[in-house]
Amino acid sequence: MSARKFTGNFTQQEPLSETAIEAAAAVLRSGRLHRYNLAPGEVGEVALLEEEFAAWQGSRYCIAVASGGQAIQIALRAAGVAPDDRVLTNAFTLAPVPGAIHAVGARPVLVEIDENLRLDFEDLARRAESSGARFLLLSHMRGHLCDMDRLMSRVAQFGLTVIEDCAHTMGATWNNLRSGSFGLAGCFSTQTYKHINSGEGGLLTSDDPDFIARATILSGSYMHYARHGAGPDPEHFARPRYDMANMSARMDALRAAILRPQIRSIEENVARWNRLYTAVASELVSSNRIVLPARPEAEGMVGSSIQFRVPDLGEAGCRRVVAQAGLRGVELKWFGNEEPKGFTSMHRSWRYVDPHQLPQTDGVLATLFDMRLPLTFSEDDCTLIGRIIREEVSEVRL
Ligand SMILES: *Cc1c(COP(=O)(O)O)cnc(C)c1O
Repeated sequence: MSARKFTGNFTQQEPLSETAIEAAAAVLRSGRLHRYNLAPGEVGEVALLEEEFAAWQGSRYCIAVASGGQAIQIALRAAGVAPDDRVLTNAFTLAPVPGAIHAVGARPVLVEIDENLRLDFEDLARRAESSGARFLLLSHMRGHLCDMDRLMSRVAQFGLTVIEDCAHTMGATWNNLRSGSFGLAGCFSTQTYKHINSGEGGLLTSDDPDFIARATILSGSYMHYARHGAGPDPEHFARPRYDMANMSARMDALRAAILRPQIRSIEENVARWNRLYTAVASELVSSNRIVLPARPEAEGMVGSSIQFRVPDLGEAGCRRVVAQAGLRGVELKWFGNEEPKGFTSMHRSWRYVDPHQLPQTDGVLATLFDMRLPLTFSEDDCTLIGRIIREEVSEVRL
């Protein structure tokens, strides 16, 4: 076995550009950090961010908020989710997704995923019918888009309103249409581990003027909604300005200032991520034990992380791979752990959610591994990482 070790850091992001740093310094010098604290005639960084993100995403409207989780929560409320409503969502996702459903007083109905980590449409149909849910919070978990054309015709049959969680798919497409453009709304995160980085932050997009007007008031706009960059005409606020409660989840000028230049680099970074993904994947495919999720022709992917399964590995084998790869500098996440470690994507660790029977999802997660691919890695790094994983998987005696 090769003795080589990887020495990079799986949580090291790229530094922000000098342009972003200059923009941040200008905001700090102005003292006007609150989005509505504007000099006479000034448009403001947050309004400009909303305009530029809407233009890039191809949506009519956008509002910037405090986090991805808040974008989802506001979207659910603005879509009309009421306390005790059932909301369908993927059984394999990250904690802010069921958390947002819970936060609006609704009850998550978890839907099975298939072995390609996408929503299982048969189970969706079953659970939509049995729960009577009117909403689907679709999580494009780890960047795997389900067949969006088929999904949208399915949800029409069940009368489901779709809200898309695009935390892992900013820049990804299905048949050349960006994720976030299919449902009523797209929810994006600008938290450090996602595709653009402001530490914390979120973006909510939609083409529906009344929905976005409600969302704007919910976000805490203090009746300054006319100062939004990509908002609807004032008449859409006539009712929501009195009916919607203030959730105080605004984005500030500092974060908007450092995000704006990053929008211009998304496409280039998507191409870079995909080269890293390909470098790891081409090592993994030569192992006959490792299975990569299928990447359909219609999907324009963003390989900012990679997932793989080793179906023949038992629990002890999985633990061994994590430990041995770890000794060689490769940090793998494994979803078969009973105890959540550092992240929570296991439905049994969300005890505020009604217990669910999810045998198919449990089976997939039992041998599923996951790894981030930060842009500070080179293609050579990724080839080495892939080789280390392949070697450690082959070392396990079945
Ligand atoms: C990160 C993430 C979110 C939103 O996260 P915030 O930390 O609230 O910005 C939503 N869904 C998924 C799947 C995520 O990974």
